[in-house]
Amino acid sequence: MTKQNDRAEQERIARILNRLDDAYGTDSRTYLEYETAWQLLVATILSAQCTDARVNLVTKDLFRKYDSLEKLAAASQEELEQDIYTTGFYHNKAKNIIACAQALLERHGGEVPSDIESLTALPGVGRKTANVVRGNVYGVPSIVVDTHVGRIARRLGLSANDDPVKVEFDLMEKIPEDHWILINLHLIALGRSICKSQRPDCEACFLKEECPSRGKASGSGKTGGKAKAEGAKTGGKADAQKPAAPKKP
Ligand code: SF4
Repeated sequence: MTKQNDRAEQERIARILNRLDDAYGTDSRTYLEYETAWQLLVATILSAQCTDARVNLVTKDLFRKYDSLEKLAAASQEELEQDIYTTGFYHNKAKNIIACAQALLERHGGEVPSDIESLTALPGVGRKTANVVRGNVYGVPSIVVDTHVGRIARRLGLSANDDPVKVEFDLMEKIPEDHWILINLHLIALGRSICKSQRPDCEACFLKEECPSRGKASGSGKTGGKAKAEGAKTGGKADAQKPAAPKKP
């Protein structure tokens, strides 16, 4: 890329970020409700393939019932499955949450670590969950790549990769650090309302002048490529699991 092209691309990215800031504000807090670091970790594990609103409904009672990491570590899996079943994948999530609580007590004295290696070594914690915790609890700038972020980054020409870890690194290279946490929230908001997986509403989109995929996007976010099911790839450990209708345990 020539210097001139490079500058033009930086200016395009700056315009995209300004428009996102104007549309969605600059509050970088996660939509998940929590009071402590371990609560955010649990809420983020529960949010795999589930809406934040549903997770917030479930955790309201859950954190009242299990008001310490010790209680969660000693929870009966069957009972926990019932407590969280409306979030989907309740069996794996309950298993991971109990194992994660036990690991936090055994390996970290009940504290949630801030480094990515220790976080991703915890049961049920992949790179995405680790980055949510690092960004929100420790203020460590990080970019969380979920299906919305990956898809829209590709549509906007900010990444050509499918692998979320590669998308994360592409975005870290192109987006200024003060937008690393925000870009996740902004692209999720855009992905839920306008730049949807199957039918992006390009004509209503406030980024249409800056988007190379305007009027061409569908499926995975690749222009002209094969459509893939959204959420098919998450990379790293199992942050997201294959969706299925929740059945009462
Ligand atoms: S113009 Fe279309 S493809 Fe591009 S970001 Fe907006 S909705 Fe998505």
